Amino acid sequence: MEKFIDTHAHLNFDDFKKDRFEIIEECLLNQISMINVGTVFFDSKAAVEIAEKYDRGVYASIGLHPLYVEEEDFNIDEFKELAKSKKVIAIGETGLDYFYNPKTLSKEEYIKKQKDVFLKQIDLAEESNLPLIIHSRNAFDDLYEILKDKRVKGVIHCFTGDLKDLERFLNLGFYIGFNGIIFKTNLDEVIKNTPADRILFETDSPFLTPSEFYTKRNNPMSLKIISEKISKIKGEDILSKAYENSLKLFNI
Ligand SMILES: [Zn+2]
Repeated sequence: MEKFIDTHAHLNFDDFKKDRFEIIEECLLNQISMINVGTVFFDSKAAVEIAEKYDRGVYASIGLHPLYVEEEDFNIDEFKELAKSKKVIAIGETGLDYFYNPKTLSKEEYIKKQKDVFLKQIDLAEESNLPLIIHSRNAFDDLYEILKDKRVKGVIHCFTGDLKDLERFLNLGFYIGFNGIIFKTNLDEVIKNTPADRILFETDSPFLTPSEFYTKRNNPMSLKIISEKISKIKGEDILSKAYENSLKLFNI
């Protein structure tokens, strides 16, 4: 049987409060393992607690998402403590998001705070020897400026950049994460130009449900549809390659 890993899911979110363990069991039965990704301290901790219930197949990434830097200060000591769990295999999601307007800060302050919190998480990743799970929206230039002098590696999740952005992050050694957004936005050229040994599959559940997946709330079971579409665009079956890439990056 084929093996999959959803490298970016949020089964730690309240959206899955009632049935997360049933969904996880179903995924594991179907050979789909997963990384649940934190966006604030609270749900990072939840991701670790969920992962610790399983011997294998369920992992956690911990971090503070750029969109939540107004609500929460990044407490590096608390995250460092959490990172001690063997189930924590990455730091994130972290990064930069210039798409939305801040609620309380000026846009300039907001961007400064996002960069600040991102840098702290890069430090944490380097110190803990973990890769980064990076979120970037309308911020690829600044992201590149920050990452180009760092030794940390990771994945640019839900990649929506252009070919120039792609080339820059590939040259830095980053992996590229694709999910159900490829059913809404045409990323065919980007996918064609991403080498098979740099592609990761993800769902971003509960968000970004692929159109062919007949449920409103996304879950990691949709990974197969995403993998089929990407393989079709690449002209080769890259399912096992993407699985291998994930194990390599996250040291699983
Ligand atoms: Zn996410």
